[in-house]
Amino acid sequence: MAELVHEASPFEQVNVLFDRAADRLGISDDLRELLRMPWRELRVEVPVRMDDGRLRVFIGYRVQHNGARGPYKGGVRYHPQADLDEVRALASLMTWKTAIADVPFGGAKGGVQVDPAELSEGELNRLTRMYTQNIAMLIGPTRDIPAPDLNTNAQTMAWMMDAYSRLHGHTPAVVTGKPVELGGSYGREAATGRGAIFALTSWARRAQVNPQGMTMAVQGFGNAGYWAARCAQEAGLRVVAVSTSKGGVYDPEGLDLDRLSKCYKETGSLAAYEQGDQITNAELLALPVDLLCPAALGGVLAGDNADQVRARVILEAANHPVTPAGDEVLNRKGVVVLPDVLVNAGGVIVSYFEWAQNFQEFRWEESRVNEELWLRMRQAVDQVYDRAQQERVTLRDAAFIIAVERVARAVELRGFV
Ligand code: GLU
Repeated sequence: MAELVHEASPFEQVNVLFDRAADRLGISDDLRELLRMPWRELRVEVPVRMDDGRLRVFIGYRVQHNGARGPYKGGVRYHPQADLDEVRALASLMTWKTAIADVPFGGAKGGVQVDPAELSEGELNRLTRMYTQNIAMLIGPTRDIPAPDLNTNAQTMAWMMDAYSRLHGHTPAVVTGKPVELGGSYGREAATGRGAIFALTSWARRAQVNPQGMTMAVQGFGNAGYWAARCAQEAGLRVVAVSTSKGGVYDPEGLDLDRLSKCYKETGSLAAYEQGDQITNAELLALPVDLLCPAALGGVLAGDNADQVRARVILEAANHPVTPAGDEVLNRKGVVVLPDVLVNAGGVIVSYFEWAQNFQEFRWEESRVNEELWLRMRQAVDQVYDRAQQERVTLRDAAFIIAVERVARAVELRGFV
């Protein structure tokens, strides 16, 4: 059985979690079918005239998983592995994430199968515009609101907003995660990482664990990883390892994140950082640390390597970094897994603030954003923690039970089944 699950695709893996929650809640088979599969999927060709005059055609998707609780919401990633199954998995996770965070959105995700490191700034601009134009009939401020994800950022959102606004008039609320100058929210860039640390400290308070002085390894030095590491240091943890897709660095004395970030920006890798040891991503996952924070790709801790984890707590800043088979191994070892749909919800929570601010043509100070984020994260963690204790299940199962219950209730109330 464990092997079967391990072999499953990312979308099937999310549905293993969904089914377990649906079983517990006694959800009927027909409603289960509706909740499991995406509502709508669009595949588009994205032709781009390259700088050298050649035409390249990329493939993009937008998957809308469930919209019972509000407009579809979710990021757009640029990655060679962003195929339909992966985008479906991520869209489904957004449905459960927005429900747990209790923000009034459904779940969606977009992706373009491309390695953005191979494209110039101009090529990326043209790719983003073409993708936006091709999904424009699905998105809109009350329909579906994209945001940044892996390898996309505030600049990508500015291009998306511009492309959409050319068709429909000035529409900042069509995307979140925009540059502050174009209606973005203060604090949105840091929100996923900051929210992850808020989730950690909220859990620690309930579990009576002191996070101060904990050692932490972070896989990924993109938006989520960088800010999780930064905010962890501010909260008194010692960040001893970080990595990019090319490898990482480990220094038990602690890392200088400013220097690492400068080094990464200037050289595209962490290899030039002189202190500590250079390590591989596989080595990072097995370091003797208190806390391991996967903050990059999915599926990095699976049935065949989860046993090497030496951390006591896993903080899932990435989406689905642990497979169900990996989860089983970690549970058996007594490792506490703080699940993605709870931990990385800070991004979409501050997206919600940004979207609401756009409608009001108003802006909150960063301190207000962070305070409201903290309140919402703490509430979500408390609810998941309580449910896990009541039902004697893991935090992941408790999070899914709450999410599926909320979405199923919304579907029933709307009366379309
Ligand atoms: N891409 C982020 C996520 O996976 C943020 C989504 C959003 O803000 O809509 O949660």
